[in-house]
Amino acid sequence: MQTITLNNGVEIPALGLGVFQTPAEETRSAVTAALESGYRHIDTAAAYGNEREVGEAVAASDLDRSEVFIETKIWISDYGYDQTLHSFDKSAGKLGVDQIDLLILHQALPSEFEKTIAAYKALERLLADGKVRAIGVSNFMVDHLTQLLGTATVVPAVNQIEVHPYFQQREVQAFGAERGIVTQAWSPIGGITFYREGEHTSTLQDPVIVAIAEAHAKSPAQVMLRWHLQQGRSVIPKSTKAHRIAENVDVFDFELSGDQLAAVDGLDTGKRGGPEPEAVTLGAFGRDIPEA
Ligand code: NDP
Repeated sequence: MQTITLNNGVEIPALGLGVFQTPAEETRSAVTAALESGYRHIDTAAAYGNEREVGEAVAASDLDRSEVFIETKIWISDYGYDQTLHSFDKSAGKLGVDQIDLLILHQALPSEFEKTIAAYKALERLLADGKVRAIGVSNFMVDHLTQLLGTATVVPAVNQIEVHPYFQQREVQAFGAERGIVTQAWSPIGGITFYREGEHTSTLQDPVIVAIAEAHAKSPAQVMLRWHLQQGRSVIPKSTKAHRIAENVDVFDFELSGDQLAAVDGLDTGKRGGPEPEAVTLGAFGRDIPEA
């Protein structure tokens, strides 16, 4: 498995399995299928309600704990220094691990940014104590990163943001790249676009992507994953189906040309699929994260 070296020297497998919206009862089988297909990185979150099943599947595999990179996220309801330290205990307890490989803040809380800063300070503490191997953020825009970097002592290792051919956030990516922050693409094959109205119902049916896929005898999903990897992004495609889980990791035996990468770059619509990061508030999105 190809890896990306984070800004503190830790190596992250470039491709992992995402488990957002994977029901808890299907998570064990999805993670097991992924590990059997060669995945060594799982991306979950406290808010997904399936950390326990992720941990169970990793523990039940033949792999040593050190061979699987586990990433999870602190939900906004647990922001604040002490609350975030406790949130680590909740996540580690459900995952059944002593150390989490990558722990990130799930969202900025723009209207209460001091809570976001306090949460990040707790991540820095966890890193110093060896409870986590790397720390980062998610859905941080340039303004949020700028505010955070004004007080942080540790530069986030990753910023996990929505990136797929129809929404590429080049400005956020470039800002991160200049500061050693790896962009990790969520909805990397455009999952969030599948239900939207328009000329193409989803990235999977986009004629440009379909044509490139046909040229390589690969699938549209594989072309999109290759596009990310060749541009240096970490990717975490989600599927609950074993055959798609296997398909999504089978992307290391072909290469897109410069023209093909540029053609995919040209598909950006500038239209966000996920929630507007500036509008995330505890009132609208807060929810209790259960104890381990
Ligand atoms: P993806 O781009 O990974 O797409 C997932 C969708 O594509 C599902 O409907 C899946 O269906 C389908 N699919 C998967 N593989 C294939 C394939 N080879 N061919 C056709 N269809 C396929 O989108 P997600 O939004 O799920 O994002 C991936 C991960 O990113 C999440 O699981 C999560 O870990 C993370 N994420 C993080 C967010 C954040 O705020 N930080 C927000 C959203 C996601 P099926 O399961 O039926 O195969």
